[in-house]
Amino acid sequence: MQATPAVEGLGRKVDALRRACAAEVDERSPKGLGAERLSARKGCRTPTELIARLTGVSEATASRRMNLGAALAIRGSLNGEALQPRFPRTAKAVAAGELGEDAARAIVAALGGIRDRSRPEDWAVAEEELVGSAVDGFTADQTKVQANVWKVALDLDGVEPEAEDAMRRRCLVRLGTRDGLVRYRMDLMPEISGKLEQAIAAVVSPKSAPVFLSDADPLAQGDRDERTSGQKRHDAFASLVDAAARSADVASMGGAAPTVLVTVDERDLVAGRGAGWIDGVDEPIPMAAITQFACAGGMQKLILGREGEIVSLWSPERCFTSQQRRAIAVRDGGCVIPGCRVPAGWCEVHHVWEHSRGGPTHTDNGVTLCWYHHRSIDTGGWSIRMRNGVPHVRAPGWLDPGGTWRPVGSARARKRRREVERT
Ligand SMILES: [Zn+2]
Repeated sequence: MQATPAVEGLGRKVDALRRACAAEVDERSPKGLGAERLSARKGCRTPTELIARLTGVSEATASRRMNLGAALAIRGSLNGEALQPRFPRTAKAVAAGELGEDAARAIVAALGGIRDRSRPEDWAVAEEELVGSAVDGFTADQTKVQANVWKVALDLDGVEPEAEDAMRRRCLVRLGTRDGLVRYRMDLMPEISGKLEQAIAAVVSPKSAPVFLSDADPLAQGDRDERTSGQKRHDAFASLVDAAARSADVASMGGAAPTVLVTVDERDLVAGRGAGWIDGVDEPIPMAAITQFACAGGMQKLILGREGEIVSLWSPERCFTSQQRRAIAVRDGGCVIPGCRVPAGWCEVHHVWEHSRGGPTHTDNGVTLCWYHHRSIDTGGWSIRMRNGVPHVRAPGWLDPGGTWRPVGSARARKRRREVERT
C-alpha cells in the first residue's frame, strides 16, 4: 500500500517528461515550415508519426501525449517571451507530481472548449477548484464528473451549441464482424442513453428482483448469476430488441411483423448441429440460436432445391398467438428461472415439450424465459416441467443437490390475486 502511491508519483514525473518531449516534437513541426518541419525532415507525415516511431507507442497515445503536453507546456511568444501555459494551475500541479495524467486530461477536456465562452475570472476559479479537489484526493473519475458540472455552469452560451453539435454527430453504426461477434458503435444523445440505461437497469439492477423465495430456500442465497455485467447488459438489450420487434406499434414489413430469415441445411437442423445464416449478417449463426428462433418466434418452412428453386412452402407453424402470450405472461409474471428479473413483456415463450417432438403450441406447454435463459436452457442445467398447467422448475444439481421441483409463478400469481382483491 505504501509502494503503490509512491510508484504512481514517480510515474507522474516520468509522464510529465514524456509529454514535454512530445510537445517539443510538435512545437518544432509547425505546419507553416513545410518540408523544413522536424517531422518532415525525418520522413514522417506528422509529428504524431515521428513520436510513434521514436517510442514504439501507438499514434493515438502519441497524439494524446502531444495534446496534453501542449496544453500544459510553457509557450514562447512571437517576440521570444515565455508565456504562461494555457492551464497554469493544472500545469503547476502536474509538474509537482501532485496531479495525475487522467485528472489533468479531464480538466483540460472540460475547460478547454469553453475558454472563450466563459468569464476569465470564473474560468480561473473553476481550474483552481478542480485541481484543488483532485490534489486533495478526488479520483480522476470524480474529477471528470466535477469538471463537467463546472463546464455547464461556466458556459455563457449554455449547453445548446454543444447539443447541436452532438445532434449532428449522433450515430449507430455497424462496424463489421470480428471473432464471431458483430461490433457496433453507438454515439447516443444523452437522453437516449438515459432511457436505455433505465430500461437495462429494470432487468439488471438487483433492486428490481422479485422476492418470491423464502430466505431458507437455497436458491435465494445470493446472486448465482455468473455472467459479467457486460454480458448481462447485452442480454437485457437482446430482450429489449425482442420486445420491440413483437410490439404491435413497430413498423410492419409487408404487412407482417419484422421477420428474420434464417437459412440452414435441413440435415443440420434435424441433427441439431452445424450452423445457419441470417440475412444481412456475415457471421454464421449457431444451431442453438436457430432452435431458439424456431421455438420462440415460430417458423415457416421453405425448402429450396439444388438450383435454388422453391421445392415446397409450409404455412407458418408453432407460433404462440398474442392472446396465448398474454395469458402465459400473466401466469408466469416474468422469466421463470428463479432470481431472474426479466419482466414477462421482455420474455420469449418457450415450448416446454419441444415442438419438434410433438409438443403442442398451447398455454399449458409454454413458459416465459428471458433471451439468455432460453438460449442456455439445454446447457444451463435448469429443468422445466408443467403440472396442472403450472410450470415447475428444478435447479441444476450443483445449486440444489436435492433436486426439488418448485412451482414458479404461483407466488407471483398469489401476490397478484391479493393486489386485485385489495383494489
Ligand atoms: Zn431469465
